[in-house]
Amino acid sequence: MKKLRLAHLYPKLLNIYGDGGNILALKKRCEWRGIEIEIDEINIGDNIEEHDIYFIGGGQDLQQTEVAKELQKHKNFLHNECNKMAVFLGICGGYQLMGHYYQPHNGERLEGIGLLDAYTVAGDKRFIGNVTVTTDLVEPRTLVGFENHSGLTYINGETEAIGTVTVGNGNNGQDKTEGARYKNAFGTYLHGSFLPKNPHFADYLIELALGTKPEPLDDSIEIVAHNALVNKKY
Ligand code: GLN
Repeated sequence: MKKLRLAHLYPKLLNIYGDGGNILALKKRCEWRGIEIEIDEINIGDNIEEHDIYFIGGGQDLQQTEVAKELQKHKNFLHNECNKMAVFLGICGGYQLMGHYYQPHNGERLEGIGLLDAYTVAGDKRFIGNVTVTTDLVEPRTLVGFENHSGLTYINGETEAIGTVTVGNGNNGQDKTEGARYKNAFGTYLHGSFLPKNPHFADYLIELALGTKPEPLDDSIEIVAHNALVNKKY
């Protein structure tokens, strides 16, 4: 079985609401299967080498501004990686920077790297609360998490939503979409953290990175926790 290399992008700046738990979920779900996984933290000023999976978490506008500037240095490399079908997962603020731009309430527009054909503008209110999504990407067809963002994200072109919100706001609270996908690049507003609450999606990312379906794990406890959150409003 191939060894996986995971790049955790800017964890010192974009890593709020437990987003680092996504790294732990991928790490443990590989280790439990005997799949070797190497995790590299990429910080401001670091070069980025080829990896199988790239993860970027969420953060406040101030931290996003610093990361947005740094990401521009690696835009072409990351586009090449996306075209080679590397796996990306961006959460909230990290997701926003995977699009074309994020326009905060105050200050200049933050340029994104445009892996996703999406853009984000700050809304008038903050979306905070539980989210349930129905998706065609995995079984069970539900994804759960917690959102906390003022950004409204709109997706276009070949970029598709990960799913449809049945509880919560998702991308923009208007078109019922949540998240985005282009090739193997995914973005979502679901904090929580996302992957421990959605082990089936974690395994989908591992499958895409490996190029083969990993053997199933006993997720009986994880699925009880997942199902307890499906359609939970408060
Ligand atoms: N600062 C962005 C917003 O408020 C992202 C927040 C986050 O990552 N939770 O929309």
